[in-house]
Amino acid sequence: MEKKASFKPYTQHQLLLLPIDLDTLIPGNHMVRVVDRAIEGMNTKPLFDRYPGGGTSAYNPVMMLKVVVYAYADKIYSSRKIAKATRENINFMWLTGNVQLDFMTINRFRSERLKGIIDDIFTEVVDLLLREEYIKFENYFLDGTKIEANANKYSWVWGKSTARYKENLKKKVLEHLTAINIIEQEETDEYGNTDLPEMGNKPINSESIREAAVKIDEKLSENPTDRGLKKAKKAIEKDYLPRMEKYEKQQEILEQRRSYSKTDTDATFMRMKEDHMRNGQLKPGYNVQMGTENQFVTGFSIHQRPGDTSCMKPHLEQLKELRDRLPENIVADAGYGSEENYEFLESERVEHFVKYNTFHKEKSKKWQKDATRVQNWYYVEERDEYICGYGRYLGFLYEKKQKSDNGYESLTRVYECEDCSDCPLRDQCVKGKKPDADRRIYINRRLNELKEIAKTNLDSEKGLEMRSKRPVEVESAFGDIKGNFGVRRFLLRGMEKVKIEWGLYSVGHNMRKMAAAKA
Ligand code: SF4
Repeated sequence: MEKKASFKPYTQHQLLLLPIDLDTLIPGNHMVRVVDRAIEGMNTKPLFDRYPGGGTSAYNPVMMLKVVVYAYADKIYSSRKIAKATRENINFMWLTGNVQLDFMTINRFRSERLKGIIDDIFTEVVDLLLREEYIKFENYFLDGTKIEANANKYSWVWGKSTARYKENLKKKVLEHLTAINIIEQEETDEYGNTDLPEMGNKPINSESIREAAVKIDEKLSENPTDRGLKKAKKAIEKDYLPRMEKYEKQQEILEQRRSYSKTDTDATFMRMKEDHMRNGQLKPGYNVQMGTENQFVTGFSIHQRPGDTSCMKPHLEQLKELRDRLPENIVADAGYGSEENYEFLESERVEHFVKYNTFHKEKSKKWQKDATRVQNWYYVEERDEYICGYGRYLGFLYEKKQKSDNGYESLTRVYECEDCSDCPLRDQCVKGKKPDADRRIYINRRLNELKEIAKTNLDSEKGLEMRSKRPVEVESAFGDIKGNFGVRRFLLRGMEKVKIEWGLYSVGHNMRKMAAAKA
């Protein structure tokens, strides 16, 4: 006998006898409830303070914060998609109390109301993690990653090029103004009969070009047919002044940076880890520094410098300011092992487990037997000389000072070998290009002392434990945000907004982890 297919009843337009209580549709341990509870327990005064009063009534900031945080925890970052979710997604409808938001309201809240208070919100989340014993703020695993800015890849301004163009323009202006006697006239007015400074030292900037334009106008009023003056006036108005103003503006934006993007002037061009074209192309981006404990994000900061080394101190200073203290143990990879960082960690009296670049190599037999390594040489203290692997002396040459990006000054002593010409180790030992050069070594004594402390810490029992935890800590948090939640590029532009964005990603990550722990 033939079997008949059976179907469940389907009545699309049936009427409900009772109104739906959305609360009954949301499971007790759902992430939306975690976000709701977390934000209800927060001190939201800084957020309310962002509303100056007057004008039409605003949506409740607590509700807005819940919506935005839940959206980020649920991988919805676009304001239009968040707005859509408040119309269609029961979790969002439950959070808003069935209020439908438009994308402009969400955008304004995220970019303007959260400005300057993302640190407060993030601190509240870390406080909650401490209260609920997810973390102890004891260990801090620090690492950095570069995230592409929302900016055009080909919109660069290079500091070196700007400086070169500006110098060329200065020369051109100087020559032109000297040719029509404008410079001399100015100098006579300023210095009278005294000796004039070198022509090349005369400051040529937008201000002096404007002054020159006034002088030309005065001369033209006396001699309106002078073609040379007319030509100079046109050149100043159409070319020299606008260009000089442009270069000055660019240098103002650059500050200490080597580059910036025209579409997001806070973004700096840097080499990204993800290089799909494999051409080492620099892209506009930000350096995100982040610290974790038990894979929860407990601190973050945004930097414009590509290198991690110089970011550690400002990052930890910010962390200390927000939390009134630093964690007891700080763990980081070799990218942070600099004299400045070790000195800072020592001065803060925190236990640190920060590698330096040769930490692993030094342990190899090859390294320990290498006669060209300074570490295997003998130092004669009373004569301040080194004896190399071939038995030759390296005497002191000079001392040089170097400043880090943060202004930290370190001292390096340079020594040179008496004669390397006939040494059989020469090829491995002397790296310079000059054929007759002798080996030079660069010794930073303070750094060597600090490295010894770092080595003792890293090789201790606790050091081994911290080192084994490091890869599953901060790297997995970055992996979750970048890999699982697809954050490869910032959506917002400018340092402040990028900070808000990463703050929301971090809060979202923490909420997901809390929800997973409660599930
Ligand atoms: S190259 Fe010079 S410094 Fe190096 S081992 Fe030979 S003699 Fe010594």
